[in-house]
Amino acid sequence: MDTFEDLIEANDRHAATFDAGALPAPPRRQLAVLTCMDCRIDEHEAFGIAAGDAHVLRNAGARTSDDAIRSLIKSTHQLGVNRIAVIHHTDCGAAKIQRDDLRAKVRATTGHDPVEVDFQLIGDPDQTLLDDVERLRTSPYLPPGTLVGGFVYDVRTGRLDPRVIGRVGDARGQAQA
Ligand SMILES: [Zn+2]
Repeated sequence: MDTFEDLIEANDRHAATFDAGALPAPPRRQLAVLTCMDCRIDEHEAFGIAAGDAHVLRNAGARTSDDAIRSLIKSTHQLGVNRIAVIHHTDCGAAKIQRDDLRAKVRATTGHDPVEVDFQLIGDPDQTLLDDVERLRTSPYLPPGTLVGGFVYDVRTGRLDPRVIGRVGDARGQAQA
């Protein structure tokens, strides 16, 4: 696959019967999901998210990066989102590679050392999820009261495991049984 023909052909089929042109931009479920770019996670199949339902932000590891917060500021302040689900997952690549190994790969292929790039790799997965949820919950830029949940999606079973829930501005989030 060395062109983008697969995308263009699939889109031709999509556009032939497309009937969702009147969907409003604010997410119907007032929900934003921050999850990993891992291709095994299908938000429609796994979480019932269809077009018009939710903002879906994806990056390597589902990390609460500055860029994720940038998007969530728009979600919450401009587009009515009042719930944010941070969904990490089992067998995540961001937890399986070391920073020095990734740096070495980049250096070997490009000749440049990405020394200034924060890869936001995952050491302890459980703690990293809690940290990512806390970073949102304590963000000074998100509306107080916004619900923030932390979950782990199991790529082997398809099950979503709730781990922690809290609200922006409240005392520390509560662990889920
Ligand atoms: Zn991942």
